[in-house]
Amino acid sequence: MKTITLNSPFDMHLHLRDNDMLELVAPLSSSSFVGAIIMPNLVPPVSTKQEVIEYKKRILNATKDDNFTPFMTLFFKAYTKEFLEDVKDEISAIKLYPAGITTNSEGGVESIDTVTLAPTLNAMAELNIPLCVHGETNGFVMDRESEFMSVYEELAIAFPKLTIIMEHITTKDAVDMLDKYDNLHATITIQHLMITLDDVAGGMLQPHLFCKPIAKRYEDREALQKVALEGHPKVMFGSDSAPHPKHAKENCGCAAGVFTSPIALQVLAQLFDDNNKLDNLQKFISDNACNIYNMKPLNKNITLEKKDFVVPSVYETSKEKVVPMYAAETISWSIVK
Ligand SMILES: [Zn+2]
Repeated sequence: MKTITLNSPFDMHLHLRDNDMLELVAPLSSSSFVGAIIMPNLVPPVSTKQEVIEYKKRILNATKDDNFTPFMTLFFKAYTKEFLEDVKDEISAIKLYPAGITTNSEGGVESIDTVTLAPTLNAMAELNIPLCVHGETNGFVMDRESEFMSVYEELAIAFPKLTIIMEHITTKDAVDMLDKYDNLHATITIQHLMITLDDVAGGMLQPHLFCKPIAKRYEDREALQKVALEGHPKVMFGSDSAPHPKHAKENCGCAAGVFTSPIALQVLAQLFDDNNKLDNLQKFISDNACNIYNMKPLNKNITLEKKDFVVPSVYETSKEKVVPMYAAETISWSIVK
């Protein structure tokens, strides 16, 4: 039986939500991963030290006895250096959302200009706090990420010491930016490695594959696969796994987000194996993240084997129900329990 053991697998972009949904989905991440960068877009967004500490506690409670570290983030606002110095040890990054661009981002930044943001971004650079960015304009939906590239360039040039993560990149344009600026890095999701807009809307509409940024063209997927499969040092895995209740997805007015936590490692093993690049998966799932975030690997190994895994059609508790990507389909790799 073909197997692979991954050391210290990280999910560098994860939505765990709160309350009943947190209880349902947190164990589905902590059984596959040793740690994750936790997104702060709750209602209200996580933006104080107290909120960070309390949310972290709720996550640790929900993951029970699993060996799992939530790396917390703050929702970007104009923060003072004094505040950042005080909160620094509790957080791993700050996440910037353009206002209103995705789920619970209404309080995001109205206009990203390097002069207004300078005090906060300079303090972050000095304190080595990375900036995670949801990089989309409010233009035409297929062009939003590409249109945002000029903003990334301005940020990269104006703040050369700031570690900037282009979150969930979906386009060849974003991939091309990686080698242009030393301080630009990226996360890539499962869905953007696996699907194009054709899978979402080319046939019957597939609400469980609908997310922001929306899946793009074949040439975009090819560019994303190339850097992931080669273990490019500036890209890391970030699932952007974003659970919504089943009724909010199968609805007139479908919420954006794909739920991938419980299938992520299995799909990645299959993708890397199919392309004869299994040896590079360790870089994509952990090593690159450690280098970019300047952190040490944690002590947890996950072994996968080439054995069929039938994805459950739904994950549920008595209070919540969420449908994963590839529901009821078969993946050719499974996690060894
Ligand atoms: Zn996200």
